[in-house]
Amino acid sequence: MLSVTDVRKYFPIKEGLFIKKEVGRVHAVDGVSLEVRAGETLGIVGESGCGKSTLARCITGLHHVTAGRIEFDGKDIATLDPKAFRRDVQMIFQDPYGSLNPRRRVGSIIADPLKIHRIEGDTRKRVQELMALVGLNPEHYNRFPAEFSGGQRQRIGIARALALNPRLVVCDEPVSALDVSIQAQVINLLTDLQDQLGLTYVFIAHDLSVVRYVSDRVAVMYLGQVVELAVGEDLYKTPRHPYTNALLSAASVADPDLSAKRERIVLMGDVPSPINPPTGCRFHPRCPKARERCVAEMPLLIDSGNGHLTACHFPVQPGEHLTSEHPQIQQQSTEPQL
Ligand code: SF4
Repeated sequence: MLSVTDVRKYFPIKEGLFIKKEVGRVHAVDGVSLEVRAGETLGIVGESGCGKSTLARCITGLHHVTAGRIEFDGKDIATLDPKAFRRDVQMIFQDPYGSLNPRRRVGSIIADPLKIHRIEGDTRKRVQELMALVGLNPEHYNRFPAEFSGGQRQRIGIARALALNPRLVVCDEPVSALDVSIQAQVINLLTDLQDQLGLTYVFIAHDLSVVRYVSDRVAVMYLGQVVELAVGEDLYKTPRHPYTNALLSAASVADPDLSAKRERIVLMGDVPSPINPPTGCRFHPRCPKARERCVAEMPLLIDSGNGHLTACHFPVQPGEHLTSEHPQIQQQSTEPQL
């Protein structure tokens, strides 16, 4: 359904009092290629600032890409009629508090897409159907967002995203602002809606356990690039990229005994600046397996079988014990050079 090929999104940094000059670029997304198949959920996971939300905005057409190509149903989205594209591809936003106008009534907020796209018919009836579909009381049509809890507000956002019967929904961290018990309710609602309406999801999160629960395949992003992509269970059982191993070692598990036995892989330092990313493998300043080759040569995303793609010169082998110790290699500066 969706094909992303070598997509790059750079944000210019400008300086100057009267004449603004470009003095650098934030490499938010830098050469991402992936596909989303009809009816599946592709999870995208990574730390804050890894570019996953920027990628989501590129996919939905909210950002123009700097380079690369995004195709929906085999057609470049840059050439599609924006209104027709918007009907098919919708987005659920991260913050259910900031993404709803507090001065407008819920019925009017959910009806927005219907009005903008001039959908004929009984708008109130359709909005109330959508409210019932997402588990809201249709009689609360005239209430304001402040009268709803966080979980209910996210349901309002979901109803608005579904108003035009989209085929692809990009969920940008839809539960990260919610309490854990409410997260479960919203995730169950999203999976039920997928079964009921035949939706395809791109599900973005920084919590690996949430992504594991909802995703058919998972892509791991680091500093604007996809470093590993595999079928969910395959990725969780045999993670091959050192970064994925570190993320999994920090993910919460329900079994307290298992959790106590697990050794946490602690990564060195902070995520480098996307303004001046490290040479070679971008993960090398923090990688416990880094060697000289990693500093000089960027690893390609290579299929090791069953569609398990990894971008690493020295992937983690099954049974290999990865420690937090970092080898002594030439470190790259993580300071932005403007
Ligand atoms: Fe680590 Fe090298 Fe693999 Fe990068 S290429 S993840 S630095 S081992």
